[in-house]
Amino acid sequence: MIPLDDAQSTILDAVTPLAPRMFARGDARGLVLAQEVVAREPVPPFANTGMDGYAVRAADTPGSLRVVGELPAGRAPTIAVGPGEAIRIMTGAPMPEGADAVVMVERTRVEGDNVVVEVAKPGEHVRLAGGDVDAGQLVFERGTLLTPAHLGVLASLDVQEVSCHPRPRVVVISTGDELVECGALDPGRIRDSNRPMLLALVEDLGCEAIDGGIVGDDERAITAAVEHAADTCDVLLTSGAVSVGDYDFVKLVLERVAKQRGGSSLWAQVAIKPAKPLSFAMLGPVPAFGLPGNPVSSRVSFELFARPALRKLAGRADVAAEPVLATAAAAMPRRADGKLHLDRVRVWLEDGRYRCERAGAQASNVLSGMAGANGLALLADGEGVDAGADVRVLLL
Ligand code: AMP
Ligand code: MG
Repeated sequence: MIPLDDAQSTILDAVTPLAPRMFARGDARGLVLAQEVVAREPVPPFANTGMDGYAVRAADTPGSLRVVGELPAGRAPTIAVGPGEAIRIMTGAPMPEGADAVVMVERTRVEGDNVVVEVAKPGEHVRLAGGDVDAGQLVFERGTLLTPAHLGVLASLDVQEVSCHPRPRVVVISTGDELVECGALDPGRIRDSNRPMLLALVEDLGCEAIDGGIVGDDERAITAAVEHAADTCDVLLTSGAVSVGDYDFVKLVLERVAKQRGGSSLWAQVAIKPAKPLSFAMLGPVPAFGLPGNPVSSRVSFELFARPALRKLAGRADVAAEPVLATAAAAMPRRADGKLHLDRVRVWLEDGRYRCERAGAQASNVLSGMAGANGLALLADGEGVDAGADVRVLLL
């Protein structure tokens, strides 16, 4: 058995971020910038008011001022504010010449053609040109993950397209003669639960999920499916057939195709439970993960091995998830077996601290327990932990 860290670093060392290309801003949500963004112009582009109120000369306040005009947002000022004068102004409207402050409307009272304003300090409620972003400023660094707010900033700077690492295109294949898509079951058959789960995980991660269907336990069929995936996508995820059964062809095929394409491969027993068997191969530039067939193992293996690699391919710097510390609400006993256990747990916040407890039965085929879990508790080799002990938990 190899330690989890070794397996993870072997995989991460083998994958590199996908080559960047240009994306229309509207398609860049969730992508990682492969360029710096430098502002060509200031934001806001002109000094404007942050409040509805009156544009004034601060030196004239407090006092009764003659209202000489009105400025809604979107209009350019045509007259200046002279001594003893004010202009009614709405949020976002440009500051008229002469004025150096705004008195918010709540601090004013209209009296005929005049407005009585409270005192204002110079610059009060005035948003300066470039107060958000200066022209020439480095706005976003390479490696920035583009969230909706980033897209808003890019729009304000009139950046219509950006160079980003593309979303990895990930083919998901299930293997096994026992698997059916849906409907009535003949004796010995079960429905494929891994593929819908893995496709959803891939999509949630912001990747493009491609359904590669079910492939039987047939070496030639698996080879054809693996080669096709390697020719047409960025990543391959298979489940099943990586253990020591007589029909476990995936690990053999991944190894062989990797060798043909000049890539490395790894077939290992990782010192974890569940998800001990792992098959990983570089099909040329395309990483392939042979995840175990048992659904819980498949889910955990995805979390530990595929997710960090997919993040790296997408250009993310934050590839590995950091566990949080939680208090065990009940004892979590286990047996010493040389492995790190990843128990499916429910995690919740209580008085600002995480607490956790096991979510249902812990066998690797019990997917319903996984469905009820929102964390994986990392139980080091040994006898487990008592109630009240600190446990490291990977939040799912
Ligand atoms: P394997 O690693 O192929 O021997 O599969 C281990 C166990 O996981 C067997 O009980 C399989 O029937 C089950 N299994 C494999 N693939 C799937 C799948 N896609 N959906 C549900 N169960 C699966
Ligand atoms: Mg199988």
